[in-house]
Amino acid sequence: MDKSKKVYKKINKTGIVGTIITFLIFGAFSAFLLITLYLFFTTYAIESKIQGDYWQLADIADDMADDSITDTQMKERLDRMGGSYVILDGNRNIIQQKGDASFRTDDKGIISRIGTRNIRGYIDKSDSLVQRSFYGGISLSWKKLLTSNLEIPGLSDFEINLETKENDEDYDEDEVGFTYNTEFQEKYNELIDERYKNDHDVGFLEVPLWLEYPVEQKNEFIVYRTVFDIKLRDADLAIEIFLLTAVFVSVVLHVLLIMGIVNFVRQRRILNMFLTDTVTGGHNWMWFLIKGEHLLKKRSVSKIPYAMVSVSMVNYRSYTLCHSVRDGERLLKKLNYSLSRELRPRELMAHAATGEFSLILRAENDDDLKQRLNTIIGKLSTIESPHVFHFHAGVNVMKPAMDENGRIHRRKNVNIEDEYNKACAAKNRLLDNDDSAVSFFDTNLVEEEKWVDTVNEKQMDALKNEEYKVYYQPKYDPRTNELKGAEALIRWESPEFGFVTPNRIIPIFEKNGFIVNIDNYMISHVARDQKMWLDKGLKCVPVSVNVSRAHFVDADLAEQIRDMVDREGAPHNLIEIELTESAFFDDKKAMITTIKKLKNYGFQVSMDDFGAGYSSLNSLKDMPLDVLKLDADFFRGENAGERGDIVVKEAIKLAKSLNMRTVAEGVEEKEQVDFLAEQGCDMIQGYYYAKPMPKTDYENRMH
Ligand code: C2E
Ligand code: CA
Ligand code: CA
Repeated sequence: MDKSKKVYKKINKTGIVGTIITFLIFGAFSAFLLITLYLFFTTYAIESKIQGDYWQLADIADDMADDSITDTQMKERLDRMGGSYVILDGNRNIIQQKGDASFRTDDKGIISRIGTRNIRGYIDKSDSLVQRSFYGGISLSWKKLLTSNLEIPGLSDFEINLETKENDEDYDEDEVGFTYNTEFQEKYNELIDERYKNDHDVGFLEVPLWLEYPVEQKNEFIVYRTVFDIKLRDADLAIEIFLLTAVFVSVVLHVLLIMGIVNFVRQRRILNMFLTDTVTGGHNWMWFLIKGEHLLKKRSVSKIPYAMVSVSMVNYRSYTLCHSVRDGERLLKKLNYSLSRELRPRELMAHAATGEFSLILRAENDDDLKQRLNTIIGKLSTIESPHVFHFHAGVNVMKPAMDENGRIHRRKNVNIEDEYNKACAAKNRLLDNDDSAVSFFDTNLVEEEKWVDTVNEKQMDALKNEEYKVYYQPKYDPRTNELKGAEALIRWESPEFGFVTPNRIIPIFEKNGFIVNIDNYMISHVARDQKMWLDKGLKCVPVSVNVSRAHFVDADLAEQIRDMVDREGAPHNLIEIELTESAFFDDKKAMITTIKKLKNYGFQVSMDDFGAGYSSLNSLKDMPLDVLKLDADFFRGENAGERGDIVVKEAIKLAKSLNMRTVAEGVEEKEQVDFLAEQGCDMIQGYYYAKPMPKTDYENRMH
């Protein structure tokens, strides 16, 4: 189960992990994309826009620093650069200023790099933060404009004397290399406005930015207002790239999201399949394991005593045999539904295995729980009326977990499988019971199961090591007090567990089939002992050996017994075979055949425990038995007394008329002995005469 649980956990995780990994990868990719874009734009901006002003500032500041220019010269040079500027001292107080100082001197600024140098810049705080200008920068391409093929009607009306200017040696066509009057200016603006209204090619975005350059040695700073002008075309490009990136990121995100959802749905479906019972459509064992653990570990239920309950339908298989598997499954579905309707809040149930339902119920009170389970089982029994079904319920109550100080804490280490197993162990005790019943688990049960396990493990070695001892319980004639026979009874003298009585091992051997070996062992040993005593010249009496009903399935049982006894060399008439009364119900015909064969070989055959529960008067007439052993129950408790005496008397009579001898078992009182003697009972096997004893003690009795 641990493995399936792991698989479940794996499936449960993969969906999420997969999605997380995809998101991480995409996240890294997006970050990479954005960083690249950022680097690209900043490099572009720095290289193309502010580098020029920056190096001019650097020149001036360096000249200042090594005193190669005076303050006035510096001022002139700064003035010539055209923009506003400020000179700050070490405490960032303004010492000189041209124009408005529209930046905050205490600002940290923005730091970027030109080559290996850090440059500091400040955002302009004035209103004219960003201005669009269509012609502010047009002077640069003035000449180009005039000489181009652009048709600007009306402009040619103005006279512009370029040649005279070109003759001037200071002429710089990129600077103000022409003159014009206001009229021209207005007309020009008007025309340009019109011409370039929708054309961004020559438009600019002007972002004022204050650049700072330290004047080393003097501990002063020149902060110069430069205009960071971006061509609208470039700005548009940047916006387009940004939008494209945003669209791309959003598309990928959506795809990822859809993929994630699809994945999640699919994974849920698989998990559901994993946790759904194919027969009932309800929950399965796996679900029960996971949810059960989850429920019991909750802090909120730590104070509630819970019961692990296993409910099994008795004879589900025979129902499907008589009807069909489909009918059986339909029934299970109904049972599942009916059981689920019985649940109260914070209780669980599932179809754990075919015909078996696992439940976790609240168990504040054992009696209430038992009552409730009986009611539930009652409802289930008549679910398919007029059919009546039977159910076994095993209950394992789990008290709240406590520490040494008696403080209740969370059930941290609850193991559903172990707890459920205990409920099943309790349920297994009902196996022999065909009716509906509820059984509670207790720790004795564990001891019992452990003992069964130990016996299973040790039985063979004990046999090989002859740890099983034959004890003999003599049978006496109550009239003459003569030794007339004995019964061989097993004892286990275990070096590890000490003296072990048969009722602690025989039922286990009967269940696990080892009883056949035990019976053979006993027959051989008794035959060996009888042979030994004969050889010693003792007066031997028949010794009866118990043969379990499990042994009777062997068709050649009689031959097996004959061969075993022959191997030891004991005469057959000194061995008696005891068959228990319940065995007479199995296969009567086979039983009669075996008894006849045994008798033919010269063995005596007796019916053990006559009168203990099973009415077998009818079997008696067909069975050619030698001895009828009256069960000890006749002489105990309620049965003893006047009415009991009548039954015993009649049983002895009946046996006599069927030519059978009688042995009364379990007789402890003198009056009983007298009474039995009076009724003509042939033998008494009871503590009144002797308890079962080791073979040496028995040998002494024979003397
Ligand atoms: P069982 O065959 O009915 O044996 C009689 C049991 O009654 C013996 O118990 C015996 O000790 C006990 N008993 C006899 N007289 C008295 C009495 O006066 N008072 C009381 N209280 N008990 C008396 P034991 O030896 O404990 O055996 C119990 C059962 O175990 C036997 O019942 C038999 O069914 C089974 N068993 C014992 N040995 C063997 C064996 O070798 N093979 C098989 N198949 N079963 C055996
Ligand atoms: Ca017996
Ligand atoms: Ca008996």
